[in-house]
Amino acid sequence: MVLADLGRRINSAISSLNRSPTIDDKQLDAALKEICTALLESDVNVKLVASLRSRVRTKVKAALEGGADKAKEAQRRNVVQKTVFDELVSLVNPGVEPYKPKKGQSNIIMAVGLQGNGKTTTCTKLAVYYQKRGFKSCIVCADTFRAGAFDQTRQSATKAKVAYFGSYTETDPVVIAAQGVEKFRKERFEIIIVDTSGRHKQEKDLFAEMEQISAAVKPDMTILVLDASIGQAAEAQSRAFKEAADFGAIIVTKMDGHAKGGGAISAVAATQTPIIFLGTGEHLSDLERFAPEPFISKMLGMGDIQGLVEQMQEMAQRDPEKQKEVMKNLEQGKFSIKDWREQMGNVMSMGSISKFASMIPGLPDMAGSEEEISSKFKRMIYMTDSMTAYELESDGLCFVDMEKDGKTPIGVNWRAQRVARGSGTSVAEVEEMLFQYRMMANMAKGAGGKNGWIQAMQKMQ
Ligand code: GDP
Repeated sequence: MVLADLGRRINSAISSLNRSPTIDDKQLDAALKEICTALLESDVNVKLVASLRSRVRTKVKAALEGGADKAKEAQRRNVVQKTVFDELVSLVNPGVEPYKPKKGQSNIIMAVGLQGNGKTTTCTKLAVYYQKRGFKSCIVCADTFRAGAFDQTRQSATKAKVAYFGSYTETDPVVIAAQGVEKFRKERFEIIIVDTSGRHKQEKDLFAEMEQISAAVKPDMTILVLDASIGQAAEAQSRAFKEAADFGAIIVTKMDGHAKGGGAISAVAATQTPIIFLGTGEHLSDLERFAPEPFISKMLGMGDIQGLVEQMQEMAQRDPEKQKEVMKNLEQGKFSIKDWREQMGNVMSMGSISKFASMIPGLPDMAGSEEEISSKFKRMIYMTDSMTAYELESDGLCFVDMEKDGKTPIGVNWRAQRVARGSGTSVAEVEEMLFQYRMMANMAKGAGGKNGWIQAMQKMQ
């Protein structure tokens, strides 16, 4: 089951529990059954699912005891939601922190994994990822077994404007790896990624080669690249590699559209090795940082603030002046429609809108293809084009009529009707756009309010 579907099913089980007037054993069991079936269909290991089920039951049962007054009922719902969330997080949490590359020094990263898992692609994605974050990055191709490996690296590194090293004549991968690392070290590269072979005539030769390369380049971090489609078999594969190359981190590739992604991630977590990234497509930008809590939060449609902050940082590097303005507003707790429009425009110019959408709570429901979402974004921008300066600087409330109490909204007003007419959209669409803007604004401000957002950004640097 694709992750978004898994998230939707788990969400619907929790919501149906939330809708029922009271929560008793029977209802809890029904919801848990639905959640567990969904996890099993994603190839999560039976034992892990069973233990999640029993832990949720024990924790929630304690909360179910006692009277049934209204306050208690609300409390119970919170307990159910929070317990399920926490248990899902611990299902994908290996409880180990990965190596963090440091600026101003050479960080050697060695990539290992079976051929076809996406190792070479991932090496370039990684180099691009770090390069975008200000690390001087490069790739060393130490795969001499597969004909064409160096060509592949050369092509993708050139496309990505990343420095690379390899050889058409040298046949010893250990020599190439050592030479490449030495050269780039001297040139003060900060991220040096060594791509290794993924196949040999004999498995033991492959493992022996990995050990020799590792001894020659002394990596700060060895990353195992795994293909999501193997599901829970990821555990056995990572254990086999662990004995030969003591890797400290994992990247799971091909998470886009693979039914067994959830299974692979939970299987890997069971080996107590942190997953650091997920590969989510064939493009160089299809690499997402992985952390247990944001991952589950995003899967359940609750947004991913860290991911958003990262996107903002990336945008900041592209157009520092514009971004500075937004950041200044955020610092003062402001996030106007104009700021939002700015962000949407930036996201559109960066591509991968669907990914951005999945980080914002509420937006994952905006399901559809990249083109569909892109056309929706464009319509939202047309709507903002029809707004007056006063409306753009506002927090959107001027579009809403309130009851006499000034707090209860009655519905959108003439301004929204004018915007709909002017942009060739409908009032319902304007309403939806305003709703989505509010979501984003609340998140931008609420994600730690005045300073939280800034602190989050600083923490990530
Ligand atoms: P290697 O043999 O392990 O070096 O694998 P490659 O990097 O050559 O990748 C094998 C294939 O998987 C290529 O067609 C890649 O484009 C594709 N691939 C790699 N990562 C991803 C991913 O995250 N998603 C998808 N859909 N394809 C990927």
